[in-house]
Amino acid sequence: MRSGISASEALAAVLEATPVLGSETLALSDALGRVLAEAVASDRTLPPLDNSAMDGFAVRRADCAGAGPEAPVVLPVAFEVPAGASDVSDLAPGQAARILTGAPVPSGADAVVRQEDTKRTGDRVAIHVVPDPGEHIRRAGEDVQRGETVLTAGTRLGPAHIGMLSSLGRSIVAVHQRPRVAILSGGDELVEPDGDVAGGRIVSSNSWSIAAQCRELGAVPVYLGIARDTPSDLEARFRAGLAADVIVSSAGVSVGDRDYVRDVLEKIGCRLHFWGVKMKPGYPLAFGRVGDDERGPLVFGLPGNPVSAMMTFEQFVRPALLRMGGRRDLYRPIVRARLDETLRKKPGRMHFVRVTLERDGSTVVARSTGNQSSGVLKSMIRAQGILLFAADAEELPAGSVADVQVIDPDFLAADAPGF
Ligand code: AMP
Ligand code: MG
Repeated sequence: MRSGISASEALAAVLEATPVLGSETLALSDALGRVLAEAVASDRTLPPLDNSAMDGFAVRRADCAGAGPEAPVVLPVAFEVPAGASDVSDLAPGQAARILTGAPVPSGADAVVRQEDTKRTGDRVAIHVVPDPGEHIRRAGEDVQRGETVLTAGTRLGPAHIGMLSSLGRSIVAVHQRPRVAILSGGDELVEPDGDVAGGRIVSSNSWSIAAQCRELGAVPVYLGIARDTPSDLEARFRAGLAADVIVSSAGVSVGDRDYVRDVLEKIGCRLHFWGVKMKPGYPLAFGRVGDDERGPLVFGLPGNPVSAMMTFEQFVRPALLRMGGRRDLYRPIVRARLDETLRKKPGRMHFVRVTLERDGSTVVARSTGNQSSGVLKSMIRAQGILLFAADAEELPAGSVADVQVIDPDFLAADAPGF
């Protein structure tokens, strides 16, 4: 087991040990937000036929030569083509056909004149423009060609993907399984939210924030409750988590007298890959895997302080769960942001500084959320970004530019629609 490693070494060790879960089939109606486990090729051409983009008249352009606002060309309306029509007649020279949006363009027609540029009287239509070649015709296959790979494995399915899959006739799709994450908290001071906090007890908020972090990225949390600070209770709860894909515990992983997590992990056959990461918040982080057969759950022993627990989840558990769930993009967007104030620290550990983000013209300004103590959960509430303050650095002067992980996708939300 390695100890006192850098954040990037820790992340590399986590990802190297992280498997990708298998697939399951789902009804398309349940697939929003899931990660596609198959490449999807089209068995059809979309649109299937050349069709009209407008309500109007299908014509041969040659028949409209010389048409203008004051000099219409008058053509007989030979037939009508509604959407969904089949066995559409050919358009003979010198004729127009009434056509509705989405209806197949009759063979012989090479443009559609929109209704607004015509005037119909009985079975004749006056055309007031010369259409461009193919104007208002949506070509067969302009969206999708038969045999084309439309979606690749690893794609997270959003509303447009769901619509496309339905167009391709895919009412059932293969998606990656969602990682099941057993969550347990440890500490004699902890109670559930409706518990008695007399005598300085505190609510196990980590259970809630970690479960929410799991849900947010599509993993399934399974709550194992609060373990007392005894080896036997901890062991029983860790064993209850062995059926999960990942076990995430918080607290009891430091060097205190009652920090039994590391001993218990050894006892249940968890091989620790590392303990202790040179970062702040979150030094006492343990990571390993149960069993030697590459099938046991990954185990993250997160620090107990609420900010440390969330931050170590964010930096290490999150990418691991995304990879398990088949995702290719494992990381948050990073913006270059201008610092509003000078930040200082001792060299040695990488600092993950909670910041608010604000747009200032074309740049982004980062401001510390204030007290960066690992017990101040409010610093996470206000945080829109996590500024990366390199391990060796001692000072980031005001006005300098730094990389910030964006954890609030709404940080660019506008107060007006922009149109
Ligand atoms: P420990 O790692 O057990 O020394 O815990 C470090 C700090 O985190 C202590 O102040 C604990 O009270 C606090 N803590 C531990 N577990 C939780 C939890 N589940 N929710 C909120 N705070 C916790
Ligand atoms: Mg404790």
